[in-house]
Amino acid sequence: MILFKILAFISLFTVSTVWGKTPEINALLAQAENVRQENPKKFNETINLLESKALSFSHEQRMNYYVLKAYKLTIMGNYAEAEQLLDTVSKNSSNNELILRATYGLISVYLAKKDWTNGFLFVEKTLQQIKQVNNNPHTIYGLLTVIVFYNQIQQFELSLSYIKTLNTEQLTLKNKCFVEQLRLEASQNKNFSSVIQIFQMEETIKTCEQANWPVAAAVVRAYLAKNHLENGSPQKAILSLTPFIGDVLATKFSLAIIDFYNTLAKAYYQLGKADKSSHYADLAVENITHNNTKQTVDAYHQKYQLEYDAKNFEKALDYYIKYAEADKAYLNDITARNVAFQLAQHQAIQQKNQIELLNNQNELLNNRNELLRVEQSLARTEAENTKLIASLLMAIIALLAFFGYRSWRTQRRLKTLAEFDYLTKVYNRGHFMTLAEETLKLATKAKQTVTCIIFDLDKFKMINDRYGHSAGDLALKAAASAAHSCVRDNDIFARLGGEEFVILLPGCDTSAACYVAEKCMRAFEAIDTSDSGHEFSVTASFGITTSKISGMAIDDLIADADKALYQAKNNGRNQYRIYEP
Ligand code: GH3
Ligand code: MG
Ligand code: MG
Repeated sequence: MILFKILAFISLFTVSTVWGKTPEINALLAQAENVRQENPKKFNETINLLESKALSFSHEQRMNYYVLKAYKLTIMGNYAEAEQLLDTVSKNSSNNELILRATYGLISVYLAKKDWTNGFLFVEKTLQQIKQVNNNPHTIYGLLTVIVFYNQIQQFELSLSYIKTLNTEQLTLKNKCFVEQLRLEASQNKNFSSVIQIFQMEETIKTCEQANWPVAAAVVRAYLAKNHLENGSPQKAILSLTPFIGDVLATKFSLAIIDFYNTLAKAYYQLGKADKSSHYADLAVENITHNNTKQTVDAYHQKYQLEYDAKNFEKALDYYIKYAEADKAYLNDITARNVAFQLAQHQAIQQKNQIELLNNQNELLNNRNELLRVEQSLARTEAENTKLIASLLMAIIALLAFFGYRSWRTQRRLKTLAEFDYLTKVYNRGHFMTLAEETLKLATKAKQTVTCIIFDLDKFKMINDRYGHSAGDLALKAAASAAHSCVRDNDIFARLGGEEFVILLPGCDTSAACYVAEKCMRAFEAIDTSDSGHEFSVTASFGITTSKISGMAIDDLIADADKALYQAKNNGRNQYRIYEP
Protein backbone atom coordinates (compact mmCIF):
# COMPACT_ATOMS: atom_id res chain seq x y z
CA MET A 1 0.00 0.00 0.00
CA ILE A 2 1.41 3.31 -1.08
CA LEU A 3 0.54 5.12 2.08
CA PHE A 4 2.16 2.50 4.19
CA LYS A 5 5.39 2.62 2.20
CA ILE A 6 5.41 6.39 2.61
CA LEU A 7 5.10 5.93 6.35
CA ALA A 8 7.87 3.36 6.26
CA PHE A 9 9.97 6.06 4.64
CA ILE A 10 9.47 8.33 7.64
CA SER A 11 10.82 5.71 9.94
CA LEU A 12 13.64 4.80 7.60
CA PHE A 13 14.70 8.38 7.44
CA THR A 14 15.13 8.88 11.15
CA VAL A 15 18.51 9.26 12.81
CA SER A 16 18.88 8.31 16.43
CA THR A 17 20.20 10.87 18.85
CA VAL A 18 19.96 8.50 21.78
CA TRP A 19 23.26 7.38 23.24
CA GLY A 20 23.50 4.67 25.84
CA LYS A 21 26.35 3.13 27.78
CA THR A 22 28.01 0.82 25.28
CA PRO A 23 29.61 2.73 22.38
CA GLU A 24 29.58 -0.29 20.03
CA ILE A 25 25.87 -0.89 20.50
CA ASN A 26 25.15 2.80 20.14
CA ALA A 27 27.12 2.86 16.92
CA LEU A 28 25.14 -0.10 15.58
CA LEU A 29 21.83 1.51 16.59
CA ALA A 30 22.85 4.69 14.76
CA GLN A 31 24.01 2.70 11.74
CA ALA A 32 20.68 0.82 11.57
CA GLU A 33 18.92 4.16 11.51
CA ASN A 34 21.16 5.54 8.81
CA VAL A 35 21.08 2.67 6.37
CA ARG A 36 17.44 1.67 6.60
CA GLN A 37 16.24 3.86 3.77
CA GLU A 38 19.02 3.36 1.25
CA ASN A 39 20.19 -0.13 2.17
CA PRO A 40 17.48 -2.44 3.53
CA LYS A 41 19.87 -5.40 3.33
CA LYS A 42 22.45 -3.75 5.55
CA PHE A 43 19.66 -2.60 7.83
CA ASN A 44 18.51 -6.18 8.31
CA GLU A 45 22.09 -7.31 8.95
CA THR A 46 22.58 -4.59 11.53
CA ILE A 47 19.31 -5.53 13.26
CA ASN A 48 20.44 -9.17 13.38
CA LEU A 49 23.83 -8.14 14.76
CA LEU A 50 22.12 -6.01 17.41
CA GLU A 51 19.86 -8.93 18.28
CA SER A 52 22.95 -11.04 19.07
CA LYS A 53 24.11 -8.37 21.52
CA ALA A 54 20.70 -7.98 23.15
CA LEU A 55 21.98 -9.32 26.49
CA SER A 56 24.32 -6.38 26.99
CA PHE A 57 21.75 -3.69 26.13
CA SER A 58 21.11 -0.91 28.59
CA HIS A 59 17.43 -0.12 29.18
CA GLU A 60 17.52 2.82 26.79
CA GLN A 61 19.41 0.85 24.13
CA ARG A 62 16.78 -1.87 24.38
CA MET A 63 13.99 0.67 23.90
CA ASN A 64 15.82 2.14 20.90
CA TYR A 65 16.29 -1.35 19.44
CA TYR A 66 12.57 -2.10 19.95
CA VAL A 67 11.64 0.95 17.88
CA LEU A 68 13.93 -0.16 15.03
CA LYS A 69 12.76 -3.77 15.24
CA ALA A 70 9.13 -2.65 15.24
CA TYR A 71 9.67 -0.77 11.98
CA LYS A 72 11.15 -3.86 10.42
CA LEU A 73 8.21 -5.95 11.66
CA THR A 74 5.74 -3.39 10.31
CA ILE A 75 7.33 -3.56 6.87
CA MET A 76 7.09 -7.36 7.03
CA GLY A 77 3.42 -7.07 7.90
CA ASN A 78 3.87 -8.45 11.42
CA TYR A 79 1.71 -5.78 13.01
CA ALA A 80 0.94 -7.62 16.23
CA GLU A 81 4.59 -7.93 17.24
CA ALA A 82 5.41 -4.41 16.08
CA GLU A 83 2.49 -3.11 18.12
CA GLN A 84 3.70 -4.98 21.21
CA LEU A 85 7.25 -3.61 20.95
CA LEU A 86 6.14 -0.03 20.35
CA ASP A 87 3.63 -0.28 23.17
CA THR A 88 6.44 -1.43 25.49
CA VAL A 89 8.57 1.56 24.47
CA SER A 90 5.72 4.03 24.88
CA LYS A 91 5.05 2.72 28.38
CA ASN A 92 8.55 1.95 29.66
CA SER A 93 10.90 4.44 28.11
CA SER A 94 11.82 7.60 29.96
CA ASN A 95 13.22 9.15 26.81
CA ASN A 96 10.68 11.52 25.27
CA GLU A 97 12.10 11.17 21.77
CA LEU A 98 11.83 7.37 21.87
CA ILE A 99 8.28 7.62 23.23
CA LEU A 100 7.39 9.95 20.35
CA ARG A 101 8.90 7.52 17.81
CA ALA A 102 6.89 4.71 19.42
CA THR A 103 3.60 6.65 19.37
CA TYR A 104 3.81 7.71 15.73
CA GLY A 105 5.13 4.25 14.86
CA LEU A 106 1.93 2.92 16.39
CA ILE A 107 -0.16 5.26 14.20
CA SER A 108 1.52 3.61 11.18
CA VAL A 109 0.72 0.16 12.56
CA TYR A 110 -2.94 1.06 13.15
CA LEU A 111 -3.19 2.70 9.73
CA ALA A 112 -1.88 -0.52 8.15
CA LYS A 113 -4.33 -2.53 10.27
CA LYS A 114 -7.13 -0.05 9.53
CA ASP A 115 -7.67 0.12 13.28
CA TRP A 116 -8.94 3.68 13.20
CA THR A 117 -10.01 3.83 16.82
CA ASN A 118 -6.56 3.01 18.18
CA GLY A 119 -5.11 5.18 15.44
CA PHE A 120 -6.99 8.17 16.88
CA LEU A 121 -5.77 7.32 20.35
CA PHE A 122 -2.16 7.49 19.20
CA VAL A 123 -2.75 10.58 17.08
CA GLU A 124 -3.69 12.26 20.37
CA LYS A 125 -0.69 10.77 22.16
CA THR A 126 1.66 11.77 19.35
CA LEU A 127 0.37 15.36 19.39
CA GLN A 128 0.91 15.42 23.15
CA GLN A 129 4.34 13.86 22.87
CA ILE A 130 5.44 16.30 20.15
CA LYS A 131 5.17 19.03 22.80
CA GLN A 132 7.73 17.14 24.90
CA VAL A 133 10.29 16.91 22.10
CA ASN A 134 11.47 20.25 20.79
CA ASN A 135 13.25 21.00 17.54
CA ASN A 136 13.76 17.44 16.51
CA PRO A 137 13.26 15.72 13.14
CA HIS A 138 10.92 13.32 14.94
CA THR A 139 8.47 16.11 15.74
CA ILE A 140 8.16 16.60 11.95
CA TYR A 141 7.80 12.86 11.31
CA GLY A 142 5.25 12.64 14.09
CA LEU A 143 3.26 15.48 12.58
CA LEU A 144 3.53 14.01 9.06
CA THR A 145 2.16 10.69 10.34
CA VAL A 146 -0.74 12.51 11.99
CA ILE A 147 -1.45 14.31 8.70
CA VAL A 148 -1.35 11.01 6.78
CA PHE A 149 -3.80 9.58 9.30
CA TYR A 150 -6.22 12.50 8.93
CA ASN A 151 -5.99 12.26 5.15
CA GLN A 152 -6.81 8.57 5.33
CA ILE A 153 -9.76 9.27 7.56
CA GLN A 154 -10.73 12.00 5.06
CA GLN A 155 -10.52 14.73 7.68
CA PHE A 156 -8.84 17.01 5.19
CA GLU A 157 -9.53 20.23 7.08
CA LEU A 158 -7.63 18.87 10.06
CA SER A 159 -4.79 17.75 7.78
CA LEU A 160 -4.53 21.19 6.24
CA SER A 161 -4.55 22.85 9.65
CA TYR A 162 -1.59 20.70 10.75
CA ILE A 163 0.21 21.22 7.43
CA LYS A 164 -0.05 24.95 8.09
CA THR A 165 1.96 24.50 11.31
CA LEU A 166 4.91 23.09 9.34
CA ASN A 167 7.51 25.51 8.10
CA THR A 168 8.07 24.03 4.62
CA GLU A 169 11.12 26.23 4.00
CA GLN A 170 13.03 24.39 6.70
CA LEU A 171 12.10 20.94 5.44
CA THR A 172 14.39 18.64 3.51
CA LEU A 173 13.50 18.18 -0.17
CA LYS A 174 11.98 14.77 0.51
CA ASN A 175 9.86 16.03 3.36
CA LYS A 176 8.84 19.03 1.31
CA CYS A 177 7.73 16.70 -1.51
CA PHE A 178 5.87 14.58 1.02
CA VAL A 179 4.12 17.55 2.65
CA GLU A 180 3.12 18.99 -0.72
CA GLN A 181 1.77 15.63 -1.83
CA LEU A 182 -0.27 15.42 1.39
CA ARG A 183 -1.46 18.99 0.92
CA LEU A 184 -2.62 18.21 -2.64
CA GLU A 185 -4.36 15.06 -1.43
CA ALA A 186 -6.14 17.05 1.29
CA SER A 187 -7.17 19.88 -1.06
CA GLN A 188 -8.44 17.67 -3.92
CA ASN A 189 -12.04 18.21 -2.91
CA LYS A 190 -11.57 21.91 -2.51
CA ASN A 191 -12.75 24.19 -5.27
CA PHE A 192 -9.37 25.74 -5.90
CA SER A 193 -8.74 27.31 -9.25
CA SER A 194 -7.49 24.51 -11.46
CA VAL A 195 -4.70 26.76 -12.78
CA ILE A 196 -3.31 27.16 -9.26
CA GLN A 197 -3.79 23.48 -8.53
CA ILE A 198 -2.07 22.41 -11.72
CA PHE A 199 0.79 24.80 -11.00
CA GLN A 200 1.14 23.42 -7.47
CA MET A 201 1.09 19.87 -8.76
CA GLU A 202 3.76 20.57 -11.32
CA GLU A 203 5.91 22.24 -8.66
CA THR A 204 5.47 19.28 -6.33
CA ILE A 205 6.39 16.83 -9.06
CA LYS A 206 9.60 18.84 -9.60
CA THR A 207 10.36 18.82 -5.87
CA CYS A 208 9.78 15.06 -5.62
CA GLU A 209 11.96 14.42 -8.66
CA GLN A 210 14.72 16.58 -7.18
CA ALA A 211 14.34 14.62 -3.97
CA ASN A 212 14.82 11.47 -6.05
CA TRP A 213 11.56 10.04 -4.85
CA PRO A 214 9.74 8.55 -7.83
CA VAL A 215 6.93 7.06 -5.75
CA ALA A 216 5.74 10.45 -4.59
CA ALA A 217 6.28 11.99 -8.02
CA ALA A 218 4.11 9.26 -9.55
CA VAL A 219 1.35 9.83 -7.01
CA VAL A 220 1.29 13.54 -7.79
CA ARG A 221 1.41 12.86 -11.53
CA ALA A 222 -1.75 10.81 -11.13
CA TYR A 223 -3.40 13.78 -9.34
CA LEU A 224 -2.31 16.08 -12.15
CA ALA A 225 -3.68 13.79 -14.87
CA LYS A 226 -7.03 13.43 -13.05
CA ASN A 227 -7.17 17.19 -12.78
CA HIS A 228 -6.67 17.59 -16.55
CA LEU A 229 -9.35 15.03 -17.11
CA GLU A 230 -11.81 16.80 -14.84
CA ASN A 231 -11.07 20.03 -16.67
CA GLY A 232 -12.02 18.41 -19.96
CA SER A 233 -8.45 18.00 -21.22
CA PRO A 234 -8.04 14.22 -21.77
CA GLN A 235 -5.23 14.94 -24.20
CA LYS A 236 -3.22 16.73 -21.51
CA ALA A 237 -3.96 13.91 -19.10
CA ILE A 238 -2.54 11.37 -21.52
CA LEU A 239 0.51 13.54 -22.16
CA SER A 240 1.18 13.99 -18.47
CA LEU A 241 1.11 10.25 -17.76
CA THR A 242 2.33 8.28 -20.80
CA PRO A 243 6.04 9.26 -20.54
CA PHE A 244 6.10 8.09 -16.92
CA ILE A 245 4.43 4.69 -17.11
CA GLY A 246 7.83 3.07 -16.80
CA ASP A 247 8.58 5.11 -13.70
CA VAL A 248 5.33 4.25 -12.00
CA LEU A 249 5.73 0.56 -12.76
CA ALA A 250 9.21 0.70 -11.24
CA THR A 251 7.71 1.94 -7.98
CA LYS A 252 5.65 -1.29 -7.76
CA PHE A 253 2.94 0.66 -5.92
CA SER A 254 -0.27 -0.86 -7.19
CA LEU A 255 -2.50 2.07 -6.23
CA ALA A 256 -0.35 4.53 -8.16
CA ILE A 257 -0.13 2.11 -11.07
CA ILE A 258 -3.92 1.56 -11.14
CA ASP A 259 -4.40 5.32 -10.86
CA PHE A 260 -2.21 5.79 -13.93
CA TYR A 261 -4.03 3.12 -15.98
CA ASN A 262 -7.48 4.26 -14.83
CA THR A 263 -6.77 7.85 -15.79
CA LEU A 264 -5.40 6.83 -19.17
CA ALA A 265 -8.43 4.54 -19.77
CA LYS A 266 -10.81 7.38 -18.89
CA ALA A 267 -8.91 9.88 -21.04
CA TYR A 268 -9.02 7.60 -24.10
CA TYR A 269 -12.66 6.80 -23.39
CA GLN A 270 -13.44 10.52 -23.41
CA LEU A 271 -11.60 10.81 -26.70
CA GLY A 272 -13.74 7.96 -28.06
CA LYS A 273 -10.76 5.62 -28.41
CA ALA A 274 -12.41 2.50 -26.97
CA ASP A 275 -9.55 0.16 -27.94
CA LYS A 276 -6.89 2.14 -26.07
CA SER A 277 -9.28 2.76 -23.21
CA SER A 278 -9.98 -0.95 -22.93
CA HIS A 279 -6.24 -1.72 -23.05
CA TYR A 280 -5.51 0.52 -20.05
CA ALA A 281 -8.67 -0.54 -18.23
CA ASP A 282 -7.54 -4.19 -18.49
CA LEU A 283 -4.09 -3.24 -17.16
CA ALA A 284 -5.77 -1.43 -14.27
CA VAL A 285 -7.89 -4.47 -13.41
CA GLU A 286 -4.83 -6.73 -13.61
CA ASN A 287 -3.06 -4.69 -10.94
CA ILE A 288 -5.95 -4.77 -8.43
CA THR A 289 -4.79 -6.09 -5.03
CA HIS A 290 -7.46 -4.73 -2.67
CA ASN A 291 -11.20 -4.59 -3.23
CA ASN A 292 -12.04 -1.64 -1.01
CA THR A 293 -10.17 1.15 -2.81
CA LYS A 294 -11.35 4.02 -4.98
CA GLN A 295 -8.90 2.81 -7.67
CA THR A 296 -10.56 -0.64 -7.79
CA VAL A 297 -14.02 0.88 -7.99
CA ASP A 298 -12.94 3.14 -10.84
CA ALA A 299 -11.19 0.30 -12.69
CA TYR A 300 -14.25 -2.02 -12.62
CA HIS A 301 -16.58 0.82 -13.51
CA GLN A 302 -14.51 1.68 -16.57
CA LYS A 303 -14.46 -1.95 -17.65
CA TYR A 304 -18.23 -2.24 -17.19
CA GLN A 305 -18.81 0.83 -19.33
CA LEU A 306 -16.53 -0.39 -22.09
CA GLU A 307 -18.16 -3.86 -22.16
CA TYR A 308 -21.59 -2.30 -22.07
CA ASP A 309 -20.72 0.03 -24.97
CA ALA A 310 -19.40 -2.98 -26.86
CA LYS A 311 -22.76 -4.65 -26.13
CA ASN A 312 -20.99 -7.48 -24.31
CA PHE A 313 -23.81 -7.41 -21.77
CA GLU A 314 -22.80 -10.59 -19.99
CA LYS A 315 -19.27 -9.27 -19.37
CA ALA A 316 -20.72 -5.85 -18.59
CA LEU A 317 -22.94 -7.43 -15.90
CA ASP A 318 -19.93 -9.29 -14.52
CA TYR A 319 -17.92 -6.07 -14.19
CA TYR A 320 -20.95 -4.25 -12.87
CA ILE A 321 -21.29 -6.78 -10.07
CA LYS A 322 -17.56 -6.48 -9.33
CA TYR A 323 -17.89 -2.71 -9.49
CA ALA A 324 -20.89 -2.77 -7.09
CA GLU A 325 -19.08 -5.07 -4.66
CA ALA A 326 -15.93 -2.94 -4.73
CA ASP A 327 -18.01 0.20 -4.31
CA LYS A 328 -19.78 -1.34 -1.33
CA ALA A 329 -16.47 -2.42 0.24
CA TYR A 330 -15.00 1.00 -0.45
CA LEU A 331 -18.04 2.79 1.04
CA ASN A 332 -17.98 0.47 4.03
CA ASP A 333 -14.34 1.37 4.53
CA ILE A 334 -15.12 5.08 4.28
CA THR A 335 -18.05 4.62 6.66
CA ALA A 336 -15.83 2.74 9.11
CA ARG A 337 -13.32 5.59 9.04
CA ASN A 338 -16.08 8.15 9.51
CA VAL A 339 -17.61 6.18 12.36
CA ALA A 340 -14.19 5.93 13.97
CA PHE A 341 -13.77 9.67 13.56
CA GLN A 342 -17.19 10.41 15.04
CA LEU A 343 -16.43 8.05 17.89
CA ALA A 344 -13.06 9.65 18.53
CA GLN A 345 -14.65 13.10 18.42
CA HIS A 346 -17.39 11.98 20.75
CA GLN A 347 -14.81 10.58 23.13
CA ALA A 348 -12.79 13.77 22.88
CA ILE A 349 -15.89 15.85 23.71
CA GLN A 350 -16.75 13.54 26.56
CA GLN A 351 -13.20 13.72 27.83
CA LYS A 352 -13.29 17.49 27.55
CA ASN A 353 -16.61 17.56 29.42
CA GLN A 354 -15.16 15.31 32.05
CA ILE A 355 -12.11 17.52 32.36
CA GLU A 356 -14.38 20.56 32.59
CA LEU A 357 -16.45 18.77 35.20
CA LEU A 358 -13.32 17.90 37.12
CA ASN A 359 -12.11 21.46 36.73
CA ASN A 360 -15.45 22.72 38.02
CA GLN A 361 -15.28 20.29 40.90
CA ASN A 362 -11.73 21.39 41.57
CA GLU A 363 -12.83 24.99 41.43
CA LEU A 364 -15.67 24.23 43.79
CA LEU A 365 -13.26 22.41 46.04
CA ASN A 366 -10.79 25.26 45.77
CA ASN A 367 -13.57 27.73 46.55
CA ARG A 368 -14.65 25.62 49.48
CA ASN A 369 -11.07 25.35 50.67
CA GLU A 370 -10.70 29.09 50.23
CA LEU A 371 -13.91 29.56 52.19
CA LEU A 372 -12.63 27.22 54.88
CA ARG A 373 -9.35 29.09 54.93
CA VAL A 374 -11.20 32.41 55.22
CA GLU A 375 -13.45 30.94 57.90
CA GLN A 376 -10.46 29.55 59.73
CA SER A 377 -8.57 32.81 59.56
CA LEU A 378 -11.79 34.59 60.59
CA ALA A 379 -12.16 32.22 63.50
CA ARG A 380 -8.50 32.72 64.30
CA THR A 381 -8.91 36.50 64.11
CA GLU A 382 -12.05 36.25 66.23
CA ALA A 383 -10.27 34.08 68.76
CA GLU A 384 -7.34 36.47 68.75
CA ASN A 385 -9.73 39.41 69.13
CA THR A 386 -11.52 37.64 71.95
CA LYS A 387 -8.19 36.93 73.58
CA LEU A 388 -7.15 40.53 73.06
CA ILE A 389 -10.45 41.83 74.47
CA ALA A 390 -10.18 39.42 77.37
CA SER A 391 -6.62 40.51 78.12
CA LEU A 392 -7.68 44.11 77.71
CA LEU A 393 -10.60 43.60 80.07
CA MET A 394 -8.34 41.81 82.50
CA ALA A 395 -5.84 44.63 82.27
CA ILE A 396 -8.65 47.17 82.82
CA ILE A 397 -10.01 45.15 85.73
CA ALA A 398 -6.52 44.82 87.20
CA LEU A 399 -5.97 48.53 86.73
CA LEU A 400 -9.39 49.35 88.20
CA ALA A 401 -8.70 46.96 91.06
CA PHE A 402 -5.29 48.50 91.56
CA PHE A 403 -6.61 52.04 91.45
CA GLY A 404 -9.67 51.00 93.46
CA TYR A 405 -7.43 49.43 96.05
CA ARG A 406 -5.15 52.45 96.07
CA SER A 407 -8.07 54.83 96.41
CA TRP A 408 -9.66 52.59 99.05
CA ARG A 409 -6.38 52.51 100.92
CA THR A 410 -5.99 56.27 100.59
CA GLN A 411 -9.53 56.78 101.68
CA ARG A 412 -9.02 54.40 104.56
CA ARG A 413 -5.86 56.22 105.46
CA LEU A 414 -7.61 59.55 105.20
CA LYS A 415 -10.50 58.18 107.24
CA THR A 416 -8.09 56.77 109.77
CA LEU A 417 -6.29 60.07 109.86
CA ALA A 418 -9.62 61.88 110.24
CA GLU A 419 -11.13 59.55 112.82
CA PHE A 420 -8.30 58.01 114.78
CA ASP A 421 -5.58 59.29 116.97
CA TYR A 422 -2.28 58.69 115.23
CA LEU A 423 -0.46 57.52 118.40
CA THR A 424 -2.90 55.45 120.39
CA LYS A 425 -5.05 54.25 117.41
CA VAL A 426 -8.29 55.05 119.29
CA TYR A 427 -10.87 57.60 118.08
CA ASN A 428 -9.75 61.21 118.10
CA ARG A 429 -11.69 64.01 119.68
CA GLY A 430 -13.39 65.18 116.45
CA HIS A 431 -14.72 61.77 115.51
CA PHE A 432 -15.72 61.13 119.12
CA MET A 433 -17.89 64.22 119.10
CA THR A 434 -19.67 63.09 115.90
CA LEU A 435 -20.25 59.57 117.17
CA ALA A 436 -21.26 60.78 120.63
CA GLU A 437 -23.90 63.12 119.21
CA GLU A 438 -25.42 60.32 117.09
CA THR A 439 -25.38 57.97 120.09
CA LEU A 440 -26.96 60.55 122.35
CA LYS A 441 -29.72 61.17 119.75
CA LEU A 442 -30.49 57.47 119.58
CA ALA A 443 -30.31 57.18 123.39
CA THR A 444 -32.66 60.14 123.76
CA LYS A 445 -35.14 58.41 121.44
CA ALA A 446 -34.69 55.15 123.28
CA LYS A 447 -34.85 56.95 126.64
CA GLN A 448 -31.59 55.30 127.54
CA THR A 449 -29.20 56.51 130.26
CA VAL A 450 -25.75 57.38 129.02
CA THR A 451 -22.77 57.66 131.26
CA CYS A 452 -19.54 59.45 130.54
CA ILE A 453 -16.12 58.65 131.95
CA ILE A 454 -13.13 60.92 131.54
CA PHE A 455 -9.75 59.82 132.76
CA ASP A 456 -6.35 61.53 132.81
CA LEU A 457 -3.03 59.83 133.42
CA ASP A 458 -1.48 60.80 136.70
CA LYS A 459 1.71 62.82 136.91
CA PHE A 460 2.43 62.19 133.29
CA LYS A 461 4.66 65.20 132.92
CA MET A 462 6.92 63.54 135.46
CA ILE A 463 7.04 60.29 133.36
CA ASN A 464 8.08 62.28 130.32
CA ASP A 465 10.64 64.16 132.27
CA ARG A 466 12.03 61.18 134.05
CA TYR A 467 12.05 58.47 131.35
CA GLY A 468 11.86 60.43 128.13
CA HIS A 469 9.15 61.33 125.64
CA SER A 470 9.26 57.98 123.91
CA ALA A 471 8.71 56.19 127.18
CA GLY A 472 5.76 58.54 127.70
CA ASP A 473 4.47 57.61 124.25
CA LEU A 474 4.78 53.95 125.06
CA ALA A 475 2.93 54.45 128.35
CA LEU A 476 0.24 56.40 126.50
CA LYS A 477 -0.21 53.61 123.94
CA ALA A 478 -0.24 50.93 126.63
CA ALA A 479 -2.83 52.83 128.71
CA ALA A 480 -5.08 53.37 125.66
CA SER A 481 -4.85 49.70 124.75
CA ALA A 482 -5.56 48.60 128.31
CA ALA A 483 -8.59 50.87 128.64
CA HIS A 484 -9.85 49.75 125.20
CA SER A 485 -9.93 46.18 126.44
CA CYS A 486 -12.14 47.22 129.31
CA VAL A 487 -14.98 48.75 127.25
CA ARG A 488 -17.83 47.07 125.30
CA ASP A 489 -18.11 47.20 121.51
CA ASN A 490 -20.88 49.77 121.57
CA ASP A 491 -19.06 52.04 124.02
CA ILE A 492 -17.23 54.95 122.42
CA PHE A 493 -13.64 55.32 123.53
CA ALA A 494 -11.48 58.24 122.40
CA ARG A 495 -8.45 60.30 123.17
CA LEU A 496 -9.59 63.81 123.95
CA GLY A 497 -6.05 65.22 123.80
CA GLY A 498 -2.71 64.95 125.69
CA GLU A 499 -3.06 62.15 128.26
CA GLU A 500 -6.84 62.60 128.66
CA PHE A 501 -9.34 60.01 127.39
CA VAL A 502 -13.16 59.72 127.29
CA ILE A 503 -15.54 56.76 127.37
CA LEU A 504 -19.24 57.19 126.49
CA LEU A 505 -21.34 54.26 127.64
CA PRO A 506 -24.87 54.13 126.22
CA GLY A 507 -27.43 52.15 128.22
CA CYS A 508 -25.26 52.28 131.38
CA ASP A 509 -25.83 53.74 134.72
CA THR A 510 -23.12 55.11 137.09
CA SER A 511 -22.50 51.76 138.78
CA ALA A 512 -21.65 50.19 135.45
CA ALA A 513 -19.39 53.14 134.77
CA CYS A 514 -17.71 52.70 138.13
CA TYR A 515 -17.16 49.07 137.30
CA VAL A 516 -15.48 50.05 133.99
CA ALA A 517 -13.31 52.61 135.83
CA GLU A 518 -12.20 50.05 138.36
CA LYS A 519 -11.54 47.54 135.62
CA CYS A 520 -9.36 50.13 133.83
CA MET A 521 -7.44 50.92 136.97
CA ARG A 522 -6.64 47.23 137.36
CA ALA A 523 -5.62 46.97 133.76
CA PHE A 524 -3.24 49.96 134.20
CA GLU A 525 -1.67 48.25 137.14
CA ALA A 526 -0.79 45.35 134.83
CA ILE A 527 0.98 47.60 132.27
CA ASP A 528 4.55 46.50 131.67
CA THR A 529 6.77 49.41 130.66
CA SER A 530 10.05 47.43 130.46
CA ASP A 531 10.09 47.78 126.64
CA SER A 532 10.91 51.46 127.16
CA GLY A 533 13.95 50.47 129.17
CA HIS A 534 12.35 51.68 132.36
CA GLU A 535 9.98 50.23 134.79
CA PHE A 536 7.34 52.49 136.21
CA SER A 537 3.69 52.31 137.08
CA VAL A 538 0.91 53.95 135.09
CA THR A 539 -2.18 55.19 136.93
CA ALA A 540 -5.08 57.46 136.07
CA SER A 541 -7.84 59.44 137.77
CA PHE A 542 -11.47 59.06 136.61
CA GLY A 543 -14.44 61.43 136.61
CA ILE A 544 -17.89 59.97 135.97
CA THR A 545 -21.22 61.56 135.20
CA THR A 546 -24.57 60.32 133.92
CA SER A 547 -27.11 61.78 131.53
CA LYS A 548 -29.56 61.59 134.37
CA ILE A 549 -27.55 64.39 136.07
CA SER A 550 -25.74 66.16 133.25
CA GLY A 551 -28.40 65.82 130.51
CA MET A 552 -28.05 64.54 126.96
CA ALA A 553 -25.66 67.22 125.64
CA ILE A 554 -22.13 65.93 125.05
CA ASP A 555 -20.45 69.17 126.07
CA ASP A 556 -22.29 69.11 129.42
CA LEU A 557 -21.47 65.49 129.99
CA ILE A 558 -17.76 66.12 129.28
CA ALA A 559 -17.69 69.23 131.43
CA ASP A 560 -19.34 67.53 134.39
CA ALA A 561 -17.19 64.41 134.12
CA ASP A 562 -14.14 66.68 133.96
CA LYS A 563 -15.26 68.33 137.19
CA ALA A 564 -15.51 64.91 138.87
CA LEU A 565 -12.02 64.08 137.48
CA TYR A 566 -10.66 67.24 139.05
CA GLN A 567 -12.05 66.10 142.37
CA ALA A 568 -10.40 62.70 141.94
CA LYS A 569 -7.04 64.40 141.25
CA ASN A 570 -7.46 66.61 144.22
CA ASN A 571 -8.40 63.64 146.32
CA GLY A 572 -5.04 61.96 145.75
CA ARG A 573 -5.27 60.46 142.19
CA ASN A 574 -5.55 56.81 141.04
CA GLN A 575 -9.30 56.78 141.83
CA TYR A 576 -12.67 57.66 140.35
CA ARG A 577 -15.25 60.24 141.41
CA ILE A 578 -18.91 60.53 140.43
CA TYR A 579 -20.08 64.01 139.59
CA GLU A 580 -22.32 65.63 142.06
CA PRO A 581 -23.83 68.97 141.14
P1 GH3 B 1 -1.69 65.45 136.95
O1 GH3 B 1 -1.59 64.23 137.70
O2 GH3 B 1 -2.17 66.64 137.69
O3 GH3 B 1 -2.50 65.33 135.70
O4 GH3 B 1 -0.22 65.80 136.52
P2 GH3 B 1 0.30 65.84 135.08
O5 GH3 B 1 1.77 65.90 135.05
O6 GH3 B 1 -0.22 64.71 134.33
O7 GH3 B 1 -0.30 67.19 134.55
P3 GH3 B 1 -0.05 68.07 133.24
O8 GH3 B 1 -1.34 68.39 132.60
O9 GH3 B 1 0.66 69.35 133.84
O10 GH3 B 1 0.93 67.42 132.32
C1 GH3 B 1 0.52 66.76 131.21
C2 GH3 B 1 1.72 66.42 130.40
O11 GH3 B 1 1.49 65.43 129.45
C3 GH3 B 1 2.24 67.61 129.62
C4 GH3 B 1 2.72 67.02 128.32
O12 GH3 B 1 4.05 67.16 128.12
C5 GH3 B 1 2.43 65.58 128.43
N1 GH3 B 1 1.89 65.13 127.19
C6 GH3 B 1 0.78 65.59 126.57
N2 GH3 B 1 0.62 64.91 125.43
C7 GH3 B 1 1.69 64.01 125.33
C8 GH3 B 1 2.08 63.03 124.39
O13 GH3 B 1 1.43 62.83 123.37
N3 GH3 B 1 3.24 62.33 124.68
C9 GH3 B 1 3.99 62.49 125.77
N4 GH3 B 1 5.07 61.76 125.97
N5 GH3 B 1 3.63 63.42 126.62
C10 GH3 B 1 2.49 64.15 126.46
MG1 MG C 1 -2.24 64.18 133.81
MG1 MG D 1 -3.84 66.25 131.69
